[in-house]
Amino acid sequence: MEGKRNIVVVGGGVIGCTTAYYLSRHPKFNPALHTITLLEAAPSLASGASGKAGGLLGLWAYPSCLVPLSFKLHAELAAEHGGAQKWGYRHLKCGSISATVTKQRIQQMQTLNGDTKAWERLPKQNEAAQELFASTNQPEDLDWIARDLVEGYAEMGAPGASETAQVHPYHFTTSIGELARSGGVDIRTNAKVTNIKSSASEVESVEYLDRESGETKQINDVTDVVVSAGPWTGRVLPKAKVEGLRAHSVVYEADVSAYAVFTDIELPSDFVPEHRAKMGQKRKHKGSVDPEIYARPFGEVYACGEPDKLVPLPETADQVECDEAQCDDIISYIGTVSPVLHSASIKAKQACYLPQHIRFGQESGPLIGGTSVPGIWLAAGHTCWGIQNGPGTGKLMSEFVFDGKATSANISNLDPRKFKV
Ligand SMILES: Cc1cc2nc3c(=O)[nH]c(=O)nc-3n(C[C@H](O)[C@H](O)[C@H](O)COP(=O)(O)OP(=O)(O)OC[C@H]3O[C@@H](n4cnc5c(N)ncnc54)[C@H](O)[C@@H]3O)c2cc1C
Repeated sequence: MEGKRNIVVVGGGVIGCTTAYYLSRHPKFNPALHTITLLEAAPSLASGASGKAGGLLGLWAYPSCLVPLSFKLHAELAAEHGGAQKWGYRHLKCGSISATVTKQRIQQMQTLNGDTKAWERLPKQNEAAQELFASTNQPEDLDWIARDLVEGYAEMGAPGASETAQVHPYHFTTSIGELARSGGVDIRTNAKVTNIKSSASEVESVEYLDRESGETKQINDVTDVVVSAGPWTGRVLPKAKVEGLRAHSVVYEADVSAYAVFTDIELPSDFVPEHRAKMGQKRKHKGSVDPEIYARPFGEVYACGEPDKLVPLPETADQVECDEAQCDDIISYIGTVSPVLHSASIKAKQACYLPQHIRFGQESGPLIGGTSVPGIWLAAGHTCWGIQNGPGTGKLMSEFVFDGKATSANISNLDPRKFKV
């Protein structure tokens, strides 16, 4: 541990950037002796889920061994680096609504049969989190959800906004990346890792494709590699078994009160989203739909829909396909309960892949720690809570690499070696 360290971080999403940042801030990091290189396959940082997520942070998120540390570090990072201005760090209230939308509320209607499917949930609230919702009245200042449609409102966790916060994930990730760069990290974009060479006892080199020149390049004498390639982790390190699940989202231009709202919207049985009716299509969902809607700083509202398995993970984050009709579904469903958002401009329609570990499944934690090869580390599979759990993961990875063990939290149950990685 005392000698020269040549560390390579694979991936410039929130996990790679926070890892690079905390490595560069670690007391044992000596830029005259050690090197840290972050390789990102896309042309810019935060090109995947880390730039397209909601950015919600919650003390009620999962896994509980990691969440409190990371929630605290978010507050510390914001205080130290002006996060409120730079990446919109703030506390906000969080609640859930259930609403029934009547026929009269829907302007576009068609009689339908068949062609329906049940709405699939993003695994953001695990069972423990669902129990924390307490029934109350819809708050006065939550004035952008139609009060007359809401049958129930429940607030998450302790009353007020102490247990829920948010960041703008793109600005957070890129700002932390830039702070890592100013701390001495060599960040290379368009650098797609193609091979990690190792023996059973150590790492040797990291090979990557320079997508600009088309050349294959190699970093030699590598001592440590942190694989944090999100849903592509299973391609960089197949035994990690981390893969991706696509999800669409939209961003509105709207300045509304600071609430994160989980919805459960019962639609009339013959509801057809307007864009689908125009295409002569029949209804997409049966029963209820539950998009999540977060007011965001910088005059935005973010909303995400359900995941789908229609298109496999592409080669790189800049090649992710967005199916605009799925974004229009989200807009259409939300328009039924929010007149404000119904008339708001749309700033972005987008898609990204959620990273998840196939053996852990949804509603569970990432894999963080060492692997069977000394010097190859893993930090991936953060499912719905990678923005929330980014700083904690980065801090713990820096401890693993420089101290040989994680000390800020006990995350032994996230040890990749338990899953034969
Ligand atoms: C719709 C949606 C909403 C979400 N909302 C929230 C939220 O509100 N709060 C929250 O905490 N989390 C949220 N998440 C989850 C969060 O976005 C992810 O857990 C997190 O972004 C994962 O970060 P990552 O760095 O592991 O992966 P990514 O962001 O995917 O980054 C991985 C990076 O690795 C790069 N890469 C891949 N292969 C290679 C290679 N071979 N060589 C070099 N680089 C490579 C990619 O280009 C990419 O930039 C949401 C996710 C989705 C899909």
